[in-house]
Amino acid sequence: MTEEIKREIILDHYQNPRNRGLIEDSSYIKADTNNESCIDEIHIMVKIEADRIIDAKFDGEACAICTSSTSIMVETLIGKTIEEAIKIYKNFNLMLNEEAYDQELLEQAYVYQDISKQPNRKKCALLPWWGFEKVINTYREKK
Ligand code: ZN
Repeated sequence: MTEEIKREIILDHYQNPRNRGLIEDSSYIKADTNNESCIDEIHIMVKIEADRIIDAKFDGEACAICTSSTSIMVETLIGKTIEEAIKIYKNFNLMLNEEAYDQELLEQAYVYQDISKQPNRKKCALLPWWGFEKVINTYREKK
């Protein structure tokens, strides 16, 4: 994936975020996250049935990196099992920490590969995933 393609994917998800907009539906698990070192405030809602992510939506005010990262996360997670999703999250963390990771697993989230070189932007890319982690914790508590 070239630098140009990565930038295009990020810009596309920022300008046309997928699944943006929350709904009233108590079958979804909600989580809020914010990043005080940026303007980012993200609200996500995820529907999980039998350990599989059926749907996910988000809303909030955030910078280009955070908004696009949330949109990409939502698109990547839908259809995945909890175990698969956690694996993706772990590998995303490894990539941002410049440790060995599985690129295949990350799908489009791989576009943030170079964010590790901008420590102040790492949080922006990671923020939605922290929200996802909260959702998983809530789901496990409910079980
Ligand atoms: Zn940000």
